[in-house]
Amino acid sequence: RVKELGRNGIAFFEQSMQVAASERLAIESELRRALLKKQFVLHYQPQINHRTQAIEGAEALLRWQHPHKGTIGPAAFMDVLEESGLILPAGKWVLLSACSFLSRLLQANAIDANCFSLSVNISPRQFRQASFVDDVLHAIATYAIPPQCIKLEITEGIVIQDVADTIDKMNVLRERGVHFAIDDFGTGYSSLSYLKQLPVDVLKIDQSFVRDCTHNPNDAEIIRAIIAIASSLRMDFIAEGVETSEQLAFLHELGCDHYQGYLFSPPVDEHAFCLLLNSRQHD
Ligand code: C2E
Ligand code: MG
Ligand code: MG
Ligand code: MG
Repeated sequence: RVKELGRNGIAFFEQSMQVAASERLAIESELRRALLKKQFVLHYQPQINHRTQAIEGAEALLRWQHPHKGTIGPAAFMDVLEESGLILPAGKWVLLSACSFLSRLLQANAIDANCFSLSVNISPRQFRQASFVDDVLHAIATYAIPPQCIKLEITEGIVIQDVADTIDKMNVLRERGVHFAIDDFGTGYSSLSYLKQLPVDVLKIDQSFVRDCTHNPNDAEIIRAIIAIASSLRMDFIAEGVETSEQLAFLHELGCDHYQGYLFSPPVDEHAFCLLLNSRQHD
């Protein structure tokens, strides 16, 4: 078969590789322009306490408001941001925007600093940058927000890249009051010996386990195990990607009452998020 395809097959392969590479370059330069032209926005997905029905926080999620293509989610561009290094300026922008939003919520008395935290996703390259700790502290100082209102979401992948550097940076920020969550927990290369050395506040149960938890016993067992790990390390836990009331009821039975997911709300823009906060306060 390979022989039959011959030179044309190889030529076709090389050609499509080139298309992919040049498409990537095109996206990269579009993203560079998007940063300059301020086409990025943050959307916010509420995090709920099922027991009290309170909105206890939100996760900030990056969106690209493309002038022609509409709103684009990170799945379409996060790889290019990361590989091109554009995540470094983009990540700083995300931190500043999140802190700016928090300060406006606090000033408007829309949230209570002691019972609300805003989660910000941190990419591997951003975390590894030498200035990372200063960038976080700078964003917090710029908007004079209480550091405990910020929760940085990192992945297991970030931790294992360089355990010593991760512990150092997390400790400095944790001492200043910043909180940490491990995102997508259970999908990476978990090592419990690393985990207990890290100042982690929250484990986020990945949506891949939540999706089928009501009828897949393996997923249910993994969730049970994550809850057990978090509890024994005195960490909190929250379930991601909760879409149905059956999933919510199941999680509740397992002792997990903190969740985010489409069931309550998808990520929404700033204005819609404020309306959600408002409607809760008057319940
Ligand atoms: P993540 O941090 O695990 O975020 C959760 C993702 O699940 C979000 O996708 C969210 O919209 C989606 N989601 C929430 N509830 C549900 C649900 O009930 N069902 C389903 N199917 N999905 C749900 P999104 O916004 O497309 O973001 C994808 C990933 O991109 C994030 O995963 C995160 O890793 C990355 N990301 C997003 N914003 C940023 C950012 O500002 N900086 C960095 N470094 N990464 C970001
Ligand atoms: Mg996240
Ligand atoms: Mg996640
Ligand atoms: Mg994810």
